Amino acid sequence: MKIVSTCPLCEEHSLHIIEEDDIGTQQCINCGYATTDKFMGTREDNDAFKTLPEEMQSWSKEANGRVWIPSMITLPFGTLYPVNIDNMVNHKKEMKWAFAEMVDIPEEEQKNYPDENDGFYKQRYDTDNQKIFDVFLDAMAEMNEKARQNSTPESKIKLPKLRRVDG
Ligand SMILES: [Zn+2]
Repeated sequence: MKIVSTCPLCEEHSLHIIEEDDIGTQQCINCGYATTDKFMGTREDNDAFKTLPEEMQSWSKEANGRVWIPSMITLPFGTLYPVNIDNMVNHKKEMKWAFAEMVDIPEEEQKNYPDENDGFYKQRYDTDNQKIFDVFLDAMAEMNEKARQNSTPESKIKLPKLRRVDG
């Protein structure tokens, strides 16, 4: 069961409302913007918004009495996230979507990637070779393709349970 509603930002019928997670997540799979209950209010008065990195704040939007921010999706085989890219024509920064794959760190380089437990990471997200997408859906398609290629029981994308409402 799932709730799919109309997104107040892109107006597509692709806003997924996730009730089971207890934080009131609303995620649009078309434009990629998301919000939770802690982002109720406006940029002026919302405390959670004020703790966001400056870049995230600059990408945020207001709609339906909430602040919306671009989604970041982190999975065992890759990560999808918003990035600012310089537009070659007008030299303005534009938000795009990036996908970076999880890669193994060569043993001789692991010393450059200390973890929090006095050890070293063996894998990292390869953001140097990130793929850039204009459209969130295209970035999602790339991620789904990688999910198929990396299809082990642990790395399958677990879709949250959703419930449908009319209207
Ligand atoms: Zn949308």
